[in-house]
Amino acid sequence: MNNKNIVKVVIAGGGTAGWMAAASLSKLLGKAFDITLVESDEIGTVGVGEAAIPTLAAFHRLLGINEQDFMKATHSTFKLGINFENWRNGNDEYMHGFGRVGKDCWAGEFQHFWLHGKKNNIDYNFDNYCFEIQAAKARKFALSKGGLNYSYHLDATLYAKYLRTFSESHGVKRIEGKISTVSKNKDTGDITSIQLENGASIEGQLFIDCTGFAGVLIEKSLHTGYEDWSHWLPCDSAVAVQTKTVSEPLPYTRSIAHKSGWQWRIPLQHRVGNGLVFCSKYLSDEDAKNLLLKNIESEPLKHPKVIKFKTGRRRKGWNKNCVALGLSSGFLEPLESTSIHLIMSGILRLIRLFPFQGITPSAVNEYNKQFTSELEHIRDFIILHYHCTERDDSPFWQYCKNMEIPGTLKQRLNLFKETGRVFTTESELFRVDSWSQVMLGQGAYPKQYHQIAAIMKQHELESFLTQIRETIDNAVDKLPSHQTFLDQYCRST
Ligand code: FAD
Repeated sequence: MNNKNIVKVVIAGGGTAGWMAAASLSKLLGKAFDITLVESDEIGTVGVGEAAIPTLAAFHRLLGINEQDFMKATHSTFKLGINFENWRNGNDEYMHGFGRVGKDCWAGEFQHFWLHGKKNNIDYNFDNYCFEIQAAKARKFALSKGGLNYSYHLDATLYAKYLRTFSESHGVKRIEGKISTVSKNKDTGDITSIQLENGASIEGQLFIDCTGFAGVLIEKSLHTGYEDWSHWLPCDSAVAVQTKTVSEPLPYTRSIAHKSGWQWRIPLQHRVGNGLVFCSKYLSDEDAKNLLLKNIESEPLKHPKVIKFKTGRRRKGWNKNCVALGLSSGFLEPLESTSIHLIMSGILRLIRLFPFQGITPSAVNEYNKQFTSELEHIRDFIILHYHCTERDDSPFWQYCKNMEIPGTLKQRLNLFKETGRVFTTESELFRVDSWSQVMLGQGAYPKQYHQIAAIMKQHELESFLTQIRETIDNAVDKLPSHQTFLDQYCRST
């Protein structure tokens, strides 16, 4: 045990991870210790990461961040889900929406009723029963209590800036400079201080590594190790480019599959973020750039930027007196926009286990146990999109379709295909609705379903399903367009 009281926390790095950590620690625990953040303008940030999931809205509420201020400052739009295009067979689309699909009963979830309806000629798509998806398709949006479950598309650079102002107003001290060396205690191996190129030395008891892929503390100094998942998630590169807005921003992200990867389209108020995630084994950087430039709607605002990564996770999210957040803790690729969520959940886990009176092995173990299981669950969900496909039109898709998958995913997929059942635990990010939407969307169709659905008489089933659809359709009819709502919400003084 390191029984030093924590009086000073040092955050290394000031991208989304660093400033989210600074904002939350200063707001929620800032009276208990000093916080210093070191960042280097010369190194800069990764400059991508602009789509989030609904937990970000809850995070902002926890910090008391005003949504309108945040959206104006970061030129955000609302996001209701992700539209997956060409993932199943190269000529298809489905949406993974943020809300519930239909209504459950205690014995079986909604997919059983939908499957029974399908068998009995009630032939509507699964997404006809999801309010968020229907609103997204109609390009509509509004806020109301018990209404749409949503998140945001945001400008990552402006978000870090916004959180910097917030954090500094809560007492965070920012130091500009490049970290050159890290000093450790010879006996315990704990980090004692970091040194900057200008000669400054910054001491602390707890260090948070937010230095992105560099992992300056967690890897370069502590040699924590990395579990490589690229045999399951083989994309290792991305090329990103921003373009001018030429049409109303869609309230959803587009994810368009290509022969060796997929393309994102993230609409903000003032511009659109575009990128191609690809596997360098099958596509060169140059060809990836050309493919992306061929598939964007308007002139690029800057030159395309290539980013290299390795999917996987740090062996420990917390090692010695250092906690890694953001890209320094691992990367699962951006398919389901989970990285910002993972930063947030890492911060909240750290706050719950915060070692005010010294670091104990049990707290570190608990953190790492939760860190591992959270990442493995999300990893499985992302692999599902690649593996469960009918596509075999390129070496990339042939590999993904035929690769060995984790046993946990194999079990979940087989259970769904054989019985229509999906079970998730309380701590898992993606719940039954998400798994069902993506499995059905990718073409996994169950052979059976729970017979609780068949106990209903045909006319009862018809009226049950019709009522859900009509309620959704009526609610969507009443919504303003996403653009109209944004104009009122973000541009009013
Ligand atoms: P960075 O942004 O790289 O910041 C690192 C910080 O550390 C910088 O301030 C840098 O200056 C500093 N630093 C590094 N080395 C030193 C040093 N030696 N001395 C001093 N300072 C140093 N996430 C999502 O949630 N949604 C998405 O849609 C999404 N899309 C993505 C697309 C791609 C292609 C990639 C690669 C990632 C995507 N992510 C996405 C992930 C997201 O970008 C990151 O999780 C998020 O930006 C956090 O990054 P970070 O703060 O960990 O690292």
